[in-house]
Amino acid sequence: MTTFHSTRSTTDSLTAKQAIRKGIADDGGLFVSDSLGETRVDLANIAAKSYQEIALDVLGALLPDYTADELKACIAEAYGDQWADPEITPLKPLGDDFVLELFNGPTSAFKDVALQILPRFMARATPAGGDPDEKIMILTATSGDTGKAALAGFADAPGTGITVFYPEGKVSEVQELQMTTQTGSNVKVAAVRGNFDDAQSAVKRIFGDRELADRLAADSHVVLSSANSINVGRLVPQVVYYFSAYAQLLRQQVINTGDEVEFVVPTGNFGDVLAGYYAKLLGLPVKHLVVASDKNNVLFDFLRTGSYNRNRPFFQTISPSMDILVSSNLERMLYYFSEGDTRLIAMLMNDLKNYGCYEIPEDLLAKIRRVFGCGWADEDQVRGAIADCWRENRYVIDPHTACGYFVMRQMPADPLTPRVLLSTASPYKFPRVVNEALGFDATGTDFACMDALAEATGTKAPAALRGLETADLRFGDVIAIDGMESFVADAAAAL
Ligand SMILES: *Cc1c(COP(=O)(O)O)cnc(C)c1O
Repeated sequence: MTTFHSTRSTTDSLTAKQAIRKGIADDGGLFVSDSLGETRVDLANIAAKSYQEIALDVLGALLPDYTADELKACIAEAYGDQWADPEITPLKPLGDDFVLELFNGPTSAFKDVALQILPRFMARATPAGGDPDEKIMILTATSGDTGKAALAGFADAPGTGITVFYPEGKVSEVQELQMTTQTGSNVKVAAVRGNFDDAQSAVKRIFGDRELADRLAADSHVVLSSANSINVGRLVPQVVYYFSAYAQLLRQQVINTGDEVEFVVPTGNFGDVLAGYYAKLLGLPVKHLVVASDKNNVLFDFLRTGSYNRNRPFFQTISPSMDILVSSNLERMLYYFSEGDTRLIAMLMNDLKNYGCYEIPEDLLAKIRRVFGCGWADEDQVRGAIADCWRENRYVIDPHTACGYFVMRQMPADPLTPRVLLSTASPYKFPRVVNEALGFDATGTDFACMDALAEATGTKAPAALRGLETADLRFGDVIAIDGMESFVADAAAAL
């Protein structure tokens, strides 16, 4: 029986359903399962399978206490015609390399892959406690894309509510409008004065506040849970597209079954790239996973030196969803590479909390470096990569994907190992920056920029993004960091 416990202790023993409902462990650790990798995903017939069929195989291996019927229903609801492409995550050639488009979902960012299915997982995980009226309230701090994708997934989902905080002035016009126009009777959105890490830290404090938890349960029948990528239900759906990419490479006759593939992953909180490592543990022939960062290159330094140090300037860049100094999911990677050394992980995370830094043993770093490569791009390099990619391939990429493109092009190509760049957002989410990089008209509103981009490249803006110009504004609150807790309490009372 697969059970989950914290990365920092083995005292808990939760089913997948309980871990998904709970989000984060009581000691602040992340839920992990020691049976990861015991069940392998069969690659024999994968080329003939649809995304939905691959999802059933992968999710069945990772979340065994969901029945096959439950998983089928979750998958059918999450990966239906709200996706603009029947492949869900189509793989396209990009010069000698490949790009895996993860942005064809309802909010045009890769987070849809996970956040379309997470609410369906939660709906099928019954309350663990004694309160049959218990409702889950999702609480999320977002650097841009998570917020909207979570709102879209949870809006009007039965038995749930959602509250989203984003850093004021630090997301794009389109990203902000995506959130402030969100419909649904169970949603609340506020901008906070601070950066993403401030908001994320405050959310973590709110999760750790027992007194608040008791009050919300007693007054409003509400338990708080997380939709950030620390939730195991957010992480595992992302494993599926690595297998889907492999199936598409097989179908396009680029590889034979068993051949190794390399993935280049624009990285922030380390969820996306960690899912690639889970895929490897499930038997996918992954040679390397390349962590591509923006100017906030804390992960690059870590993977080079073994020393993680968040005591450094925070840069607000043109790839806001990667502007992160504390990559939460790294904790899970360290857990697996240290062979489940919960004492070590607890110590490292304690150092991170108290000193803002930690250092891992040399042999551990060496093991990690056999799998994970790294690189980063500053903002000029990101702009240059957008321009290069368009000039060389007639393919438009967004600033996050461009970090990966830059890093990929810096690496020596191995003709025997196909490289897949994960594309994490539609360029139409960041039309101003893209137009500036490509020399197209970048004056006027984001919507004028979308039209100019469409005109100049012969591509089309996703309808949901273009339609934001005329959507009704529903939320305009700007609050202080220390006002977040009472905002949450009010939102819970209104559920
Ligand atoms: C969230 C996000 C990332 C980073 O993904 P992580 O799982 O946090 O590493 C990269 N690009 C875009 C567009 C994103 O929204």
